[in-house]
Formats: sequence, structure tokens, C-alpha cells
Amino acid sequence: MDIQKIKEELLKKRQEILESLSNHNSEELNEKSGVEDAADIVTSELSRETVYKLSQVDRETLFLIDIALKKIENGTYGVCEECGAQIGEKRLEAIPWVRLCIDCSQNEETIRTLTSRNEDTPYYNIIPTTFEEEEENKKLPE
Ligand SMILES: [Zn+2]
Repeated sequence: MDIQKIKEELLKKRQEILESLSNHNSEELNEKSGVEDAADIVTSELSRETVYKLSQVDRETLFLIDIALKKIENGTYGVCEECGAQIGEKRLEAIPWVRLCIDCSQNEETIRTLTSRNEDTPYYNIIPTTFEEEEENKKLPE
């Protein structure tokens, strides 16, 4: 498994998502031309919902990508979070940010547990600026 290649893929995908998020935001801003304060746009019900729907999946992916990058750093990349088994190489190539092996991903109970464990997910309602800043904000107790 070429970990360097996977890392590049993750960073590339991450960049794409961030760019698409900022594109959506500027579209929103353009539609509301004349409104100078971005906070006003956020409080508008329609635009908030639109932004939310457009980027929900991307935000989740972003979250998973950061987890994967962190795992590459500490050498635990490619290991199933649930059972500790090595995740298949083909599976990792298809979805580099996958967290579970194929068996665990087919277990709905496992997915529910894993989802409810993501207590830092709401953090991703704020669009991160740089990876370094996120690292600072997300330091978890050992
Ligand atoms: Zn597993």
C-alpha cells in the first residue's frame, strides 16, 4: 500500500471540498448582493438551509479525511476502528477515508455506535480555515 499516494489523494479531496464549500458561499453572497454583512445571510432561513443541504455530505467527508490523515501520522491508517482488522487495500483505494473493514461496515449497529461516538462532529459546522488551526482546536485528551 502506497501511503504517500493515499495521503496525496486525501489532501487533494480535502482541497476540492473546501473549494466547493467556498464556491457555494460566494454564490449565496452574490444572490444577496447589497447585503454586506455575512451574518445577515446566515440568519436568513432559506440560505442557511441551502448551504446546509449542499455541504452536509462534504462536511462529513472532510471530517473523515482529517481522521484518516491523523491516522497516517500516527501509523494506524488502514486499521478497522471497530475490530482492529487490516482494511483491504482495494477498499482503501476506493474510499481512502474509510474507517471500518467491510464486515463492520455491513453491521448497522457498529455504524450507529461509531456515529454517536463522533462528539467533535459539530465542530465541522464551522468551515475550517487551515489544517494547522484545526489541529490546535481538536487536541483531544490522551
Ligand atoms: Zn472491522
